[in-house]
Amino acid sequence: MRYSGFQVIKQALSGHKGWTPAWRDSEPQPHYDIIIIGGGGHGLATAYYLAKEFGGKRIAVLEKGWIGGGNVGRNTTIIRSNYLLDGNEPFYEFSLKLWEGLEQDFNYNAMISQRGILNLIHTDAQRDAFVRRGNAMMLNGADAEMLTTAQIKKRYPYLNTENARFPIKGGLAQHRGGTVRHDAVAWGYARGADSHGVDIIQNCEVTGFKIENGKVLGVDTSRGFIGAGKVGCAVAGSSSRLMSKANMRLPMESHVLQAFVSEGLKPVMAGVVTFGAGHFYCSQSDKGGLVFGGDLDGYNSYAQRGNLPVVEDVCEGGMAIFPAFGRARLLRMWGGVMDMSMDGSPIIDKTHIDGLYFNGGWCYGGFKATPASGFCFAHLLAKDAPHPFATDYRFDRFEKGRMIDEKGVGNQPNLH
Ligand SMILES: Cc1cc2nc3c(=O)[nH]c(=O)nc-3n(C[C@H](O)[C@H](O)[C@H](O)COP(=O)(O)OP(=O)(O)OC[C@H]3O[C@@H](n4cnc5c(N)ncnc54)[C@H](O)[C@@H]3O)c2cc1C
Repeated sequence: MRYSGFQVIKQALSGHKGWTPAWRDSEPQPHYDIIIIGGGGHGLATAYYLAKEFGGKRIAVLEKGWIGGGNVGRNTTIIRSNYLLDGNEPFYEFSLKLWEGLEQDFNYNAMISQRGILNLIHTDAQRDAFVRRGNAMMLNGADAEMLTTAQIKKRYPYLNTENARFPIKGGLAQHRGGTVRHDAVAWGYARGADSHGVDIIQNCEVTGFKIENGKVLGVDTSRGFIGAGKVGCAVAGSSSRLMSKANMRLPMESHVLQAFVSEGLKPVMAGVVTFGAGHFYCSQSDKGGLVFGGDLDGYNSYAQRGNLPVVEDVCEGGMAIFPAFGRARLLRMWGGVMDMSMDGSPIIDKTHIDGLYFNGGWCYGGFKATPASGFCFAHLLAKDAPHPFATDYRFDRFEKGRMIDEKGVGNQPNLH
């Protein structure tokens, strides 16, 4: 069923009895050409583009829980392509372009809102770094604009620009950045993939791999063995646990990242703002809640909940730039498990096992990457060659010393 204004009117006239489920609840088949493990944003996008763009047939997505229950439905919904390094910027700009056409493409309202993102500047050295980053963005075809404090004040009147502990000296704006309703992305890709014949199988945990003579033949699951020609893994924070079942040890750690939502307020924030002298980022949802976050919890964990010291740290960051928000009450908070890589950049690559492919290491930034990650992983699975925008996201960069370290903090996964 194609969604449209006409469809809404038609269904309204017949008492809304004709809506069909957004996707089928498929039963596992004995064998597929391609199995994708993980029904998060990346796994579903991969299946969608495989079927739609690369003519893939007999594809299944295996999800241990429910669609949208992982990080794709837990993030702070920010999309942007404001990266510095060559390995990253073209990829994230490709992703932003895919976001721009996504709702028409998969025929689903994901509430994509290009309300802009602003990175605040607090020192002269930071201004130099952000001018450099803005230039790198423009060289790669992205938009970037340096704003003065007066311009920022006009757009964000609640920012403390005068008496701040960290005075605001300007900002780097990307007007095409913004927010997307996160779980609608999972639902839209699931529906889109299903409409191209992909089986989406929920409550189906992969518990092991069948590997013979260096080739993967299928996966053991909580619903029995399923054979496959190729297997793509896209399980984000569970990557190290899943790949250990194929005897692989990844250059990755799992950490918790928390997100927070305040009570609903009248419109107070035009776009997304990030603090430059600490770690805090904030936007306002369409329901009025302030959606914000900050640093990881520093220790390794697979638990989807965080601890109180980080809550305090994040709120301090917020209060430093938006003291007025101290009056708002916190409504909800939650955690997600992040797949933090050694250099802070992702991996989209084949493994040493024939037919087994890996997608992970998305750190804080995997939501904005969802469309490009899915597209490039589908390209790799279909053609056995990396997509031009993902050629640097290979395992061997750690061996060859070609790290893509945006933050320049070295092999400290919790600092990226
Ligand atoms: C609090 C928070 C805020 C964030 N904010 C942003 C942001 O503003 N912008 C941004 O770009 N990124 C952000 N991120 C990062 C982003 O959400 C993730 O990088 C991205 O969602 C990860 O990819 P995914 O959607 O495929 O992951 P997930 O949705 O986690 O999908 C992985 C799926 O694999 C399933 N799975 C795991 N093991 C198995 C198994 N053995 N068998 C079958 N299925 C399995 C899981 O159940 C899960 O559904 C944030 C993350 C968090 C937690």
